[in-house]
Amino acid sequence: MCSVHTVTILKYTLCTSILIFLVDLIGGFISRCSLLIGDSLQSLFDIVILLMLIVGLAYSEKPADLDHPYGHGKIKYLAMYTVALIIIFASILLILNAVEKLKHIERIEYIALPIAITALSMNIARSSLLYLGYTKTREIVLLLEFKHVITDLAGSILIFIGICLSFSHPVIDPIGTMMLAMYLMYIASKYLKESIHPLIDTVSSNYFKEIVSTLKSLSIPTNIEVSEVRIRNIGGEYVIDLKIKAPKSYTIDYMHKIAKNIEYGLKARKRLRVKHVNVVSEPY
Ligand SMILES: [Zn+2]
Repeated sequence: MCSVHTVTILKYTLCTSILIFLVDLIGGFISRCSLLIGDSLQSLFDIVILLMLIVGLAYSEKPADLDHPYGHGKIKYLAMYTVALIIIFASILLILNAVEKLKHIERIEYIALPIAITALSMNIARSSLLYLGYTKTREIVLLLEFKHVITDLAGSILIFIGICLSFSHPVIDPIGTMMLAMYLMYIASKYLKESIHPLIDTVSSNYFKEIVSTLKSLSIPTNIEVSEVRIRNIGGEYVIDLKIKAPKSYTIDYMHKIAKNIEYGLKARKRLRVKHVNVVSEPY
């Protein structure tokens, strides 16, 4: 479904994001500029998101094995969960550090400027690469990533302006860092919530209702009764167990057809992310 080119473009984007992360982080420490360190945390998110996309596209066909009977979907949520925790922790450190800096105002080193320009240029290169990739392949995943890095680019431009202003007004670096850290914590908490559900395998009541209404919309003969619908969430994909009861006169062949009909009907609705459907049939 996804061409090799898409994965290649995403891999280049990943490499650029790792470079931006390193330049911002190391540069931030060298120049004592907290804004750059904050910007590096933003790239950390990009690295995980891109890794998740690449692994998802490249290995989505990887079949389940004995150790992972339901496939390999869960590991990416664990990665996101871990990184979100790291970002929250790092943001708290940044805020504490900014408070210290407000007490003893110190100037950031001028080297922060060329470092910020380098990071910004790589940011622009990354956006252009994704955009060109999208115009060539028309892969929606590249368009979505492009939109994502464009908002990152806007953030980096703001940070760049903040750094420029910090040379004349040193107080801007710690204050800007506090705002950035709070924003990062907000984003991280959103990712935390998103990744915890597939990790602890919860099934929302809305999802259950959606499955039931989908079952009703399938053309199942009226004298066949669907019951005991059970849903399991396995790493963000779902396994549906259900029972169908039919008159004794129905043949096994016919019941099998109905079971297949239910299975295809549920799986066809891609957004429901149904992985398996187990149907038990019983006469009445
Ligand atoms: Zn980002």
